[in-house]
Amino acid sequence: MAAQFTFDPNRCTGCQACVVACWIENREQQSRPWRTVHTFNACGHPQLPIFSLSFACHHCEQPACLEHCPADAYTKDATSGNVTIHAELCIGCRYCTWACPHDAPKFNEATGTIEKCTFCPERTSQGLEPACVARCPMEALGVSALDPARPLEGVLGLPAPDTRPAIHIHSLKHPHPPSLGFQPAAATLRAFLDQVLEVPAAKITLRGEWTLLCFTTVISFLAAWLGALRLGGPAVRPWAFLSLGALVLALSTAHLGRPERAWRALLHLRSSWLSREVAAVSLFLGLGAAALLGLPHLLPLAAAAGFLALFAIDRLYRVALRVGPWNLHSAHTLLNGAYLMGLLAGLGPLALAMGLMKGFLYLHRKRHFAQQGRSIRPLVGALRLAVGMLGPALLLTTHPLVAAGMALLGDLVDRAEYYDELEVPTPQGELLRELRARVL
Ligand code: SF4
Ligand code: SF4
Ligand code: SF4
Repeated sequence: MAAQFTFDPNRCTGCQACVVACWIENREQQSRPWRTVHTFNACGHPQLPIFSLSFACHHCEQPACLEHCPADAYTKDATSGNVTIHAELCIGCRYCTWACPHDAPKFNEATGTIEKCTFCPERTSQGLEPACVARCPMEALGVSALDPARPLEGVLGLPAPDTRPAIHIHSLKHPHPPSLGFQPAAATLRAFLDQVLEVPAAKITLRGEWTLLCFTTVISFLAAWLGALRLGGPAVRPWAFLSLGALVLALSTAHLGRPERAWRALLHLRSSWLSREVAAVSLFLGLGAAALLGLPHLLPLAAAAGFLALFAIDRLYRVALRVGPWNLHSAHTLLNGAYLMGLLAGLGPLALAMGLMKGFLYLHRKRHFAQQGRSIRPLVGALRLAVGMLGPALLLTTHPLVAAGMALLGDLVDRAEYYDELEVPTPQGELLRELRARVL
């Protein structure tokens, strides 16, 4: 029978006994804590409740980790409902750490693979409770039969109820503590919160993903170059294409924890956009090389595969949210590729249409960030617009190659901002957002 965790925040004191119990039970495999205690209102704002949530993997009914893993390294047991990571199949791409909105998969730096809560099958098969449940002194954590009617929508700390986490969280008995009759000004509170609140580290950062920045920029350029050749653009030297193709392959495996298992990334075409991207990039590079080395009739197919690869790249980043008001970014690789192709092939209307759309998306996003009080980096923005859009528009008819080079540079800046702006939902992030929203 499938099981679920139960959790009562009215009982939890945030003592961390569950975290320690989990470590003791699984210390051989655990390089970082699998269970985390998140405290809401840890700074003690007097007009909000203070409570803690103890979370590990929720063994979801619709596990995002399993759906998006390109190597098919997760399984879900039909009887118990346990979602298991098989480290021996994992390639260490870390995509599941982006895809899981509950921050459950942890990357083990030593093995280059993922680890997470197992639901203690060694204990439950003997009729015992999981270690974290057994050691909770307040009986806040529990296990019960899976309840299909458990509330999931709008439950604080469960950012994406569509994964159907197997956990029942009890309602707070006192969500509104008695008022102290004093309400500080918003600016005072904002300054206080900025000092005392611990902002969770971003899961995706430019520093951490620079190889992906280079990979996506080079692949956009190659797809545009081959597409432009088909439309009468500049010649593509086979050695240049092959060298850049080799660079693409090197960059795409450089960030894997287990590069020797890279081939496994092709195993989950059924539901993983990362798998589909790997397949499309491989197809593009293979067809492109064949077209340039003596089979020119393959050129249209190669160009189409290139743009298919760009589409797959943009799709796989959709697990990360909040890149802008519509989850549509001016540095999406498909837009970059079409813009560059228009410039390289001297197709004024296409280049102009793409340039205008990218410029509009860029400015609209900055405006949205400014309204949210987020940094808009005005100098970087001015550079991006001048080099990547204004310059190419002026040089399009006289110096198309210079225009394309400037556009590429502008897109590189925009794409770097993209990695800096990507946000993956997490329980910590949701608690912090909720606290800010309630206080300010
Ligand atoms: S909590 Fe995350 S890792 Fe666990 S089953 Fe759900 S999606 Fe997968
Ligand atoms: S292959 Fe990638 S997505 Fe799959 S478990 Fe390993 S790190 Fe996660
Ligand atoms: S069920 Fe087991 S593995 Fe999962 S958090 Fe609890 S003690 Fe750790």
